[in-house]
Amino acid sequence: LYLEMVTDHAKNPRHRGKAEPCTHIGTGNNPLCGDKIVVTASVNDGIIEHVKFDGEGCAISTASADLMAEILVGKTPDEATSLFTGFHELVAGKGNIDVPKKLAVFSGVREFPMRVKCATLAWHTVLSALEQGNEVSTE
Ligand code: ZN
Repeated sequence: LYLEMVTDHAKNPRHRGKAEPCTHIGTGNNPLCGDKIVVTASVNDGIIEHVKFDGEGCAISTASADLMAEILVGKTPDEATSLFTGFHELVAGKGNIDVPKKLAVFSGVREFPMRVKCATLAWHTVLSALEQGNEVSTE
């Protein structure tokens, strides 16, 4: 199941592109693997309305970014942070963590410690974008 989901989302990402309107943007780099990603988000009234990503990465980083983009829609930045906390513990292999099913497929990453950074790159990128509050200001 793990490989199937990852391969499917890596080959046919549903959320590649740029969020419109783009209120937050972040770039992430994983030199260990060569993954480079740009994540854009559209936040309105404290709710994440769209998340998109672009860039070049391995199958795991692409699939993770795609599923993350899907799961963050409708969430608040705080909820995004706690989802990532669970996701990170899941892929880093610290016990049983309650995460949404879509993210649970990444538990397979545990077996490949080198790939943890691939799986978490998009999350680090989106959270730093959300925290920095790179909101487009009209003032
Ligand atoms: Zn990678």
